[in-house]
Amino acid sequence: MKHELPKLPYEINALEPFISAETLEFHYWKHHKTYVDNLNNLIIWTEFENISLEEIIKKAPAWWIFNNSAQVWNHSFYFLWLTSNSIKIPKKKTLELINRDFGNFENFKETFNKSAIWNFGSGWTWLVLNWDWKLEIINTSNAWTILTLAEKKPLLTCDVWEHAYYIDYRNARVKYLENFWNVVNWERIESLVLNK
Ligand code: MN
Repeated sequence: MKHELPKLPYEINALEPFISAETLEFHYWKHHKTYVDNLNNLIIWTEFENISLEEIIKKAPAWWIFNNSAQVWNHSFYFLWLTSNSIKIPKKKTLELINRDFGNFENFKETFNKSAIWNFGSGWTWLVLNWDWKLEIINTSNAWTILTLAEKKPLLTCDVWEHAYYIDYRNARVKYLENFWNVVNWERIESLVLNK
């Protein structure tokens, strides 16, 4: 089974000025695509050859096949949850949960950004909905993913590997995080919350 690079639901320059076309060229066409290509090469003649991406991530030992498959999944989650037409504030049900668990939307963003800044080295910062409907912000390192945690449903992720922001923001991860909120697809998040 061949894994495919998912098509971006927007043009390569659609997220400007917050995420440049140059960043997306590298991040999507080089990094994301390379993970997909690596995975396709690594699974040939292995027990992982004919199972889904999600099954590979759950079964593969934590090394090359795991790293590449989890990075394919994480990047798809990241890219497909961004939009050039962000409504910039969460929709009804999502906002209700954010207000309940973080006080208000501003405080939520601040808490998320702080967590992302403290995510040491390379990794991902996630907003997840727990089985008991509580929202939680979680950091994972390197390729580690939320997918393997069955009781946690991911709603949003921010890639904090340097390759996600270095072209546009150099070392200023904090600036990248501030601007990230301009391109979040809250409609998509709301539909995940409503379909929990
Ligand atoms: Mn990345």
